[in-house]
This record gives sequence, structure tokens and C-alpha cells, in this order.
Amino acid sequence: MTPTTLVSRDPATDEVVATLPVHTEEQVRAVVAQAREAAPWWRDQGVAGRRRALLAWKRHLARHRDELVELMHRENGKPRIDATLELMLALEHIDWNAKQAGTVLAPEKRSPGVLLANFSARVEHVPFGVVGVIGPWNYPIFTPNGSIATALAAGNTVVFKPSEYTPAVAQWYVDAFTQANPEAPPGVLSLVTGFGETGAALCRAGVDKLAFTGSAPTGRKVMAACAEQLVPVVMELGGKDAAIVAADADLPAAADAIAFGAMGNSGQTCVGIERVYVERSVRDAFLDELRTALAGIRPGSDPKASYGPMTMPSQLDVVRRHVADALEGGGTAVVGGLDSVGDRYVHPVVILDPPHSSSAIQEETFGPTLTVTTVDSLDEAVKLANDVPFGLAGAVFSRHRADEVVAALDTSQVSVNSVLGFAGMAALPLGGRGQSGFGRIHGPEGLREFTRTRAVATQKYPVPGVRLLSFRRAGWLQRLAPHLVGWMHRR
Ligand code: NDP
Repeated sequence: MTPTTLVSRDPATDEVVATLPVHTEEQVRAVVAQAREAAPWWRDQGVAGRRRALLAWKRHLARHRDELVELMHRENGKPRIDATLELMLALEHIDWNAKQAGTVLAPEKRSPGVLLANFSARVEHVPFGVVGVIGPWNYPIFTPNGSIATALAAGNTVVFKPSEYTPAVAQWYVDAFTQANPEAPPGVLSLVTGFGETGAALCRAGVDKLAFTGSAPTGRKVMAACAEQLVPVVMELGGKDAAIVAADADLPAAADAIAFGAMGNSGQTCVGIERVYVERSVRDAFLDELRTALAGIRPGSDPKASYGPMTMPSQLDVVRRHVADALEGGGTAVVGGLDSVGDRYVHPVVILDPPHSSSAIQEETFGPTLTVTTVDSLDEAVKLANDVPFGLAGAVFSRHRADEVVAALDTSQVSVNSVLGFAGMAALPLGGRGQSGFGRIHGPEGLREFTRTRAVATQKYPVPGVRLLSFRRAGWLQRLAPHLVGWMHRR
């Protein structure tokens, strides 16, 4: 039987952080119904009203940052500085969406074409109505915010189902909207909490669109549930991002960035670096730099820790399995090893040249581990980097050859001489291909993702004697039409 309450715990100590209700299917339906009632009010606020409300929410979050950061630290386990940076990025995205939605979603004039030249034509971008958002625990504010702030700015009301591991952070974030906007009716931004069943119930509760962030297997279940009522979905799924280090790269800078991209947030980042392909001539020098970059990097919950515990305990088994598989397959541990995987914390692990077929190369690890594969050319690096089921993001480190690698990488985001930068830029879209999902959040593309188009064709004046769209169209038109077709499309 499903429990009626959900207990979230500090992953460093197991102390209870919060106890929240497990919403039943009926309760989820009621929350979605309330969001539907609020939808016309929110839509009718227009761009200016929504901008005011979103900026008030942003200021509230910023003013109460200490409280929120502390909660993120306790419930997710990440260091306070990482929680602060995460909040900073989320606020940047709320700000961008609030200020840009009017321009990005403004009606667009289109050409009516020759045949209907007596018309004007425009496209409007209208909100869906109610958007459901199912979010993960790894970036409990930034990640769901990428869908929530965008969907709200586009004029939708939102019902948010957070991960069972970070519901208290989600509750705080949602309550902040209401506190910052006391005049808003209930239902503009709402929360439902629980386990997978509550998420599944949200898919079936009458939402008009659903944005999901999480694993590909759960993404499939979410799509299947949404398919029952033809609810469109955005899928932001996992990754297996590779960094390619060319012979002409600035090796200390590359190693420093890759160390952070791989181990930061305990490696629990969908666009984190999990693999490196390095040209043979600089392989040993790169490994030396990587060891230097990782010296002193350690997990913990004290103020000096580089990253926190694994947020989801079951992930430890995945990390352990991937490390073991890579080593059994012939890989060499050059930093850490199997013993680095503890029962809460995982110390950095770097494995050199595991087989391409190993799970550490082919599956999302979501831990502070890295594989380094030696290649004889950049072509080989790209071929191997692309040869996984995922296609979220990647990175290239090179002084002169970055653009050719960017063009050949089969991913939807790429960083050059850095890692992760694209996710922090509110103006850039984010999304995947293959097992990494589809659809876009962030940027103008994200705003459009949360609207549907309405094409409007307005007849400005009738064309005397033609009446193209009438049974009383001109007789000469009937005779001339076949010739007209031939003449107009002769080239
Ligand atoms: P899931 O994909 O299982 O969960 C993501 C969200 O979906 C959570 O809110 C979860 O709720 C919810 N959910 C679970 N089952 C269903 C369902 N049947 N219908 C609707 N919603 C559902 O991810 P996990 O948190 O279990 O992590 C598993 C793996 O996913 C990780 O190891 C990592 O590889 C990957 N992942 C990728 C992320 C990314 O950013 N791309 C983020 C997080 C994880 P609940 O938590 O209550 O079960």
C-alpha cells in the first residue's frame, strides 16, 4: 500500500528534513482543476502583469536566499556555495523569461502569398493552459525552474511534482510565489508531492502539456501515460557527455574544467562530463594535470567539502557497478578506485581506457567518476563520443580545431574550452536527442515550447470578380486555373 506521507531526509545524516503528504490521484486532479480555474486570470494578466509577478517572485527568492540555500544543503546534500550558485542561475532564468516573453512571443506577421494577397496573416503564440512539471532532485531549483519559469512566463499555470528526495525545497519555492503575489488566485503555481504514482497521476489529471526531467526509463512511462490523452511532452533525460581534449589544448585549463564538470555536484548533473577522449600525444600530460586538478577534491558535508553525499542512496550501487565493470574490462584506475565508493560519499574516480562497451562508457553513471580514453585522432574521438545512445551535451578543448569538432559532435549543446556554460545562459535552448530526450527548455525556443501557435488569416478586402474561396468564384478562374498552375510553377 502507498504510504500517505512522504519523509525527506538529509542524505548526509538521515535526519528528517520534512514530512509531506502523498497526493492521491483524486487530489492531483483537484489541484489541476484549480490550476485550470486560475489559467484565464494568469493569461489575462498579459505580458506586463506576468512580468511584474515573476519579478516579485524572483526578488522574494533572492531576499530569503539564506533560508532556501540552507534547505537545499540539508535536503539535497550539496555544499551551500553550490546551492547559492544554483539559486543565482535560477533567478537569472526567471528574470530573462519575465523580461523576454513579450518580445519572443509577440504576434508575427507572415506573408499571405500571391493567391491570397488580399489577406493579412499573423501567427500568435498562445499558452496551452495548464502545464505539469515533473522534476528531479539533482538541481532541485534550477532544473524544474527551467520549465516552470518558462511555462509561467508563456502564460500557463503550472502544477509541479518534485522528486520524492527534494519535496521540501520544492514546497518552499512554490510557496514563495504565493507570498510574493498575494493577490493571485490559488492555482497559478501549485505543488503535488508523493512518489512515482503521484507523477503518473499528474500525467492523467488533465494537464495540457507535460515537462519531464529525469531518467529515460521513467521518461518512457511518462510518455506512455501522457499518450493516453495525447498530452504533448518535453523530455529532458539523461546524458553521457564527453569532453574531447585535442593535442593543441591548454591542458591545465582543460583538466581544471573537466575535473569540475565531472565531480561537481557529486557528478549528479545531466550535462556533467562523464567521459574524456584525449589525443595520445598529450594523454600523459593531461592525466598529470587532471591528478593535480583533483588533488584535495573530496566529498563531505563540512564547509570545505568540494561536493556532498549522493542524494539518492540507490545511485551508489549504479556507480559501484560502473566502476567495477570498467576495471574488470581492463581499465586502469588512475585516481581512486572501487574503494572510493562509500556508503554515502563517493571520492573522485578516474579510469583510463576502459572498453568502449563497458557500462561506464555506455550508461549514465551520475556519480563523481570519469573515464579517459586515449585516441589517435580527433576523428576517432568524435566517432567514439557519438557512439552512445545519449546526445545531450559535450565539450571540446582546442586552440585551433574546436569548430570542426563542434560540427561533428552529435549533441544538442557544446561547450568550447569550458564546461556547462550553455546551461547557465538563459538565452540558450537546452534539450537532447536520442535517449537524452527531445523538446527544448530555456531561451526563446523554451518559451515557444510552452505555447501553441494560432494562425490568423484576415481578409482585408474582397478581390472583385475573383472570390477564390467561394462557390461563386469567377467563371474565368475555372477556365484559367489549370494554365495558371502551369505558369506559376514552371520553375
Ligand atoms: P526518475 O526518472 O525515476 O525520476 C524523475 C522524476 O519522475 C521524479 O520526480 C520521480 O518521482 C518521477 N517519477 C518516477 N516514476 C514516475 C512515473 N511512473 N510517472 C511519473 N513520474 C514518475 O529518476 P530518479 O530520481 O529515480 O533517478 C534515476 C536516474 O535518472 C539517475 O540515476 C540518473 O541517471 C537519472 N536522472 C537524470 C536527471 C537529468 O537531469 N536528466 C535528473 C535525475 C535523474 P519520485 O522521485 O517521487 O520517484
